[in-house]
Amino acid sequence: MPLILDGNRVRDQILSELKPRVEALAAGGRPPGLAVILAGHNPASEIYVRGKIKACHHLGIYSESLTLPETITTDELLAAVDQLNGRGDIDGILVQLPLPPQVDARRILLAVAPEKDVDGFHPCNVGRLATGLPGPRACTPAGILQLLMRYGIAIAGKRAVVVGRSDIVGKPVALLLLHENATVTVCHSKTPDLAAVCREADILVAAIGRAAMITGDFIRSGATVIDVGMNRLDRREDVARIFRNSPEKLAALEMRGSVLVGDVDPIAMAEKASAYTPVPGGVGPLTIAMLMANTVESAERRAGIC
Ligand code: NDP
Repeated sequence: MPLILDGNRVRDQILSELKPRVEALAAGGRPPGLAVILAGHNPASEIYVRGKIKACHHLGIYSESLTLPETITTDELLAAVDQLNGRGDIDGILVQLPLPPQVDARRILLAVAPEKDVDGFHPCNVGRLATGLPGPRACTPAGILQLLMRYGIAIAGKRAVVVGRSDIVGKPVALLLLHENATVTVCHSKTPDLAAVCREADILVAAIGRAAMITGDFIRSGATVIDVGMNRLDRREDVARIFRNSPEKLAALEMRGSVLVGDVDPIAMAEKASAYTPVPGGVGPLTIAMLMANTVESAERRAGIC
């Protein structure tokens, strides 16, 4: 039986470890503070922001969400970020993406003070990651490393293949694996014979955004597979094909109108991998946990504790 890397369990562990640190900060003067900026009304973003605020409440982290109009300009948003940069009670600033199209997202992300950049997206922090200096790491990649380490999956000396080279998942996870002494290959849409490259992996990370694209012939028997993808299927034929006519999945589609699937064929993954992350319940829960960890670390650094 393959080992299922349970993201909910690891998330709960991480949050319970953070709780006394939050309490110590609160007892020392004030709790950590996180500000989340949301511009416009994107239903998915609203759900993510609610999840982040809920996690803050659970831990005792002070949080506020700033909901700005869809019509906001780059300058107005820059002013909002600047105001938060100057606030003593705010340790972390998160700008929920995507931003409305008229806003220059690059300028906004650059404007967040690097010491409050709890997403780890600022070039200063990307540079710190690249050079192995301490600093906030992008949350989803950091969560993947936590999952591997807490389940005792060996990384040093292993062959890791990352499919996807985005700034928020593919590149940072490749760097984190490299720092842990894996031999890392990063693949993308122009990689020839992707399946053959993936079959070399002891640790295969799929961060592509294409439902069940990684099929059984991409997976080496006994590999660890980390499926980062979150794709919604709303067509019956796709659900039937990918989940091999699973009555539970078809019933879930009827009830909810869509079914979540990763970038890896879930049935092939369960058959061939020695350990894997399910979707949902694998990588997803770690993203918010690591956001909380980055916020607590930022508060500790600013309080001179670490
Ligand atoms: P991006 O769209 O930014 O990047 C996708 C990457 O996949 C690109 O590098 C692209 O290559 C590559 N790619 C696309 N098609 C192919 C192909 N046919 N063969 C090989 N490579 C391909 O996506 P993200 O990194 O932001 O997200 C990836 C997935 O992870 C999504 O499903 C997203 O929803 C999910 N996600 C999940 C999170 C979580 O918390 N669980 C958090 C963040 C993301 P190229 O660069 O050449 O275009």
